[in-house]
Amino acid sequence: MLQLFLPLSALGFVYRELKKAMADVARMFALTDIEPGVTDHPDAGELVSSRPEIVFDDVYFGYTAERPILRGVSLTAAPGAKIAVVGHSGAGKSTLARLLFRFYDVDHGQLCIDGRDIREYSLASLRAAIGVVPQDTVLFNDTIEYNIAYGAPETADRAAIERAARLAHLDAFIARLPEGMATVVGERGLKLSGGEKQRIAIARAILKNPAILIFDEATSSLDSHAERAITEALAELAADHTTLVIAHRLSTVVDADRIVVLDDGRVVEQGRHAELLAAGGSYARMWQLQQHDAERDPSLDTRAC
Ligand code: ATP
Repeated sequence: MLQLFLPLSALGFVYRELKKAMADVARMFALTDIEPGVTDHPDAGELVSSRPEIVFDDVYFGYTAERPILRGVSLTAAPGAKIAVVGHSGAGKSTLARLLFRFYDVDHGQLCIDGRDIREYSLASLRAAIGVVPQDTVLFNDTIEYNIAYGAPETADRAAIERAARLAHLDAFIARLPEGMATVVGERGLKLSGGEKQRIAIARAILKNPAILIFDEATSSLDSHAERAITEALAELAADHTTLVIAHRLSTVVDADRIVVLDDGRVVEQGRHAELLAAGGSYARMWQLQQHDAERDPSLDTRAC
């Protein structure tokens, strides 16, 4: 009986952990309903790549049939490149990330990784290859160490966790805490600021070491010190991965290999920061607007250095 019980109970544990991980990611993407139609293709293969190429090719998508959200989006992230998506609230930026994570499938067009439609990869291998730094990180009522290790607990030893904290620019903050890494955070522990929580998420992603990184920048304004720490931490993390940044502050995107400007579900401009400024289009106008805001409120500083 025990021989039967142990494997079954282990299976139950794996199932509960998987469900919990999916619920956390869904919460990270602010999703209430996950498309039930997204399943593995019978011939699905494994996504094995350390710096994949990502291509959105003429992608159309709507959460409902009546309301199209993405309308013919084409963009390419070369292996290891950092792509930034900017645009007004509701333009469809986070929707691109949700399609990449395959919470939903595209209505028309194709989304490819390394030259293959993402539906040809198993969901598990696709999602294992993607690390998400969400806008609002879910913290558990546990130690900082546990919260950083969450996502890669079985491979994370103390040295790896400390390295991740250092690269995420959390070490000075942790050193000031009375119990250091053992300090309990979350609802019933020490409350962290938005910027500190996001750096915990960056440390988590550094530990996971994903091939693809999605960084969903917080909409809430951070002071320029916190923002600089996050920008530097992100640069460490993005260096070796194909990165998609969903950006709200343009200071985070000046070093991107390609900036894609989305307006009402359409790509209206793309290029590097200097090219887009010189073009004098909607990116240049957004940049001027943010500069103007920063002059009025120095905590919204948009300068890169
Ligand atoms: P923000 O900068 O405010 O985060 P965004 O550009 O990332 O905005 P998306 O989150 O991609 O915008 O949303 C695009 C549009 O799709 C919005 O109008 C939003 O209301 C709608 N939308 C998002 N999620 C859903 C959903 N699950 N069901 C229906 N509509 C949705």
